[in-house]
Amino acid sequence: MIDLPIDFCARAAAARRELRLSQSMLAREIGCKQSALSMFEAGNPTKLSGEYVEKLSKRLGIPLKPSSAEAGEGNPPAPECAGAPAAAFCPSFACISNIPYALGGRLFYRPSTVRVASGCVRHCAHCGEILETACPSCGAPVNEGACCAVCGAPYIAAQPIAGDAGEWSAARRNEIDSLRKFFRPASAP
Ligand SMILES: [Zn+2]
Ligand SMILES: [Zn+2]
Repeated sequence: MIDLPIDFCARAAAARRELRLSQSMLAREIGCKQSALSMFEAGNPTKLSGEYVEKLSKRLGIPLKPSSAEAGEGNPPAPECAGAPAAAFCPSFACISNIPYALGGRLFYRPSTVRVASGCVRHCAHCGEILETACPSCGAPVNEGACCAVCGAPYIAAQPIAGDAGEWSAARRNEIDSLRKFFRPASAP
């Protein structure tokens, strides 16, 4: 495993958003799983092996060694936003748009989908993450519910939690309810 600077995971996530890449777009480019990248960005550096971390570092222009020199100036232009409306979701398990629940002792997240022009880069109104407009596992259009109807993969990789999934998700739902009272996204009707 590579010895990473302490803030590398968070900086990788920020650099990716800066480049207007969704987690699945970047995962596809470097050849890892979106779920692994999601965990990595959330602060679990062991979720990606050294090979992928090096590719990530190169693609995002952030050095593996702490350094004062910052690479990666200038952003590419945003993609055209002319596609037909498609469902999209925020891939961050920590986002209040994703409602956790337990099934058979396992933790799942039901994303709140929004409609965006397909092929368009849009940010989550709650947390700023770039929305996913297709299943990160198979690329099928996004359906309602926690899992892809085509390949069966959960849309959002659940992070490991301590204790019972049912209790944890109930507490988190309460927390989300109270957070939402204080926050209304600008795009809400
Ligand atoms: Zn979000
Ligand atoms: Zn799928």
